[in-house]
Amino acid sequence: MTTDPSDARSVPEAPEAPEAPEAQPRVIAITGGSRGLGAGIVQAFLDAGERVATCSRSATPATDAWAKSHPDHFLFIEADLSKPDDAKAYVDAIIDRWGKVDVLVNNAGVARDGILGMTSDDDLDTVIDLNLKGTLYVSRLVSRRMLARRSGSIVNISSIVGLSGYRGLAVYSATQAAMDGLTRALARELGSRGITVNSVAPGYLRTEMSHGLDEAQLQQIVRRTPAGRLGEPADIARVVQFLVDPANSYLTGQVIVVDGGLTS
Ligand code: NAP
Repeated sequence: MTTDPSDARSVPEAPEAPEAPEAQPRVIAITGGSRGLGAGIVQAFLDAGERVATCSRSATPATDAWAKSHPDHFLFIEADLSKPDDAKAYVDAIIDRWGKVDVLVNNAGVARDGILGMTSDDDLDTVIDLNLKGTLYVSRLVSRRMLARRSGSIVNISSIVGLSGYRGLAVYSATQAAMDGLTRALARELGSRGITVNSVAPGYLRTEMSHGLDEAQLQQIVRRTPAGRLGEPADIARVVQFLVDPANSYLTGQVIVVDGGLTS
């Protein structure tokens, strides 16, 4: 039997066009997001609707609050990134939960004051093991996955003292300069796979890390800063968000100084 096309009853209904799947928020890994600058970066990405995984050695009121307010978009892992097993546990936990990392922000860092000649082995190890080795452990694991997916962005939070140096912060300055070296090398290593790598080098921020500076030193910094103030975490977070915007795929291998003009 043939079908009469004029008979409306015989015309099969056109299948409904499938709804376009909603774009999933990106997965953003931010190390050391429990306080200070890292917490500001976590907040900025959560406000933008992204999924954020952070870690530090212990939880804080901020991480507890995000776990309650953003149960589907926030993950906190207790990890000491100077230990390779902890770094792996952090990355594994993100993969278990969301299956990928779109953006890595290497923010966790520590400083120890004192002239190099008086620096103990312990202080030297603490700074190098976290700032340099911890960053390398996490970047190694995450970049491997980004390579397989042929996409991703990495931002290393370094510091203006890695560029200009600072008396009494030789070990810290060395690690921050090394972060910028890592940025340039990784940008070359990963660029052909669509992965961008940049550094943000902040000036002096109002966080616990700058508590090592006394009030007179802070006022001197403010006087010398064209913008006339210390930096806030939000000043840096905005630049990080710009760098990892998928539209900015031609911006890689750079160190962006965000210091209110202090070193300009
Ligand atoms: P902060 O207030 O001291 O916070 C550091 C963060 O890193 C905390 O969440 C801390 O949590 C975490 N962390 C420390 N040791 C860790 C470890 N072993 N494993 C995992 N997480 C660890 O420092 P900040 O001022 O926000 O600095 C953040 C980044 O900005 C650093 O890389 C720093 O070099 C850079 N920076 C800061 C300034 C400034 O003026 N503050 C200027 C330029 C650049 P736990 O202690 O609980 O682990």
